[in-house]
Amino acid sequence: MRYAIFSDIHSNLDAFESVLAAYEKERIDKYLCVGDIVGYGANPRECIKIVQDRNIPTVAGNHDWASTARFNIDYFKPYAKEAILWTREKIDNKDTEYLNNLDIVYKESDFCLVHGTLLNPEYFDYIFDLEDAMDSFKVMSVCICFVGHTHVPGVFIKENEKFSYVRDNVIDIEPKKQYIINVGSVGQPRDGDSRGCFCIYDSKERAVWIKRIEYNIGIAQKKIEDAGLPLFLSRRLSLGH
Ligand code: ZN
Repeated sequence: MRYAIFSDIHSNLDAFESVLAAYEKERIDKYLCVGDIVGYGANPRECIKIVQDRNIPTVAGNHDWASTARFNIDYFKPYAKEAILWTREKIDNKDTEYLNNLDIVYKESDFCLVHGTLLNPEYFDYIFDLEDAMDSFKVMSVCICFVGHTHVPGVFIKENEKFSYVRDNVIDIEPKKQYIINVGSVGQPRDGDSRGCFCIYDSKERAVWIKRIEYNIGIAQKKIEDAGLPLFLSRRLSLGH
């Protein structure tokens, strides 16, 4: 099976459409989303509709649940809060119900998805470093856990009791190792590369790829500005930060 695994769309329809077009050339069997469909960008409803129409299994992100008031808005920085309140106004009752019913963890036989961490996923903590990763490895029974949330693609590896971190774009999945793979962000990358980020997992070839695709950042920025959302959210798209 070839899986398309992506995260943190953040209402950026322009980036999302470019990523989906890139996936069209990748012989994908199944699409999966690691959360944060909404928040920050100007097209929450359009992004929800695509995920919903395509029946893409999706785990809840902190922005998804904050937009339905299931998760406490006090968790967020002021500009994020502002975007969440804006999103609440834009989405309708059905969108709210959809986001509210997203599961916190998705599991297949040899891998799982969670937005932030496997240990206490409902807290939406971050995996920034090896120490953070260790907590999730402790409760991880599958070979690979795909995460999002930091918007920085990267791979944490556990081999026996040794831990390492790599920023490779091609990862061979080896037996006896476990992996926490951050798939980066479709709609608001923060690793200094402004292009949309997406991931492919081939369960037969036992390999994972992190890929990038350019999209029309200017259009996404203009929509954010026209919507009256914080200017910082527009500016950061071209910085990839
Ligand atoms: Zn996010």
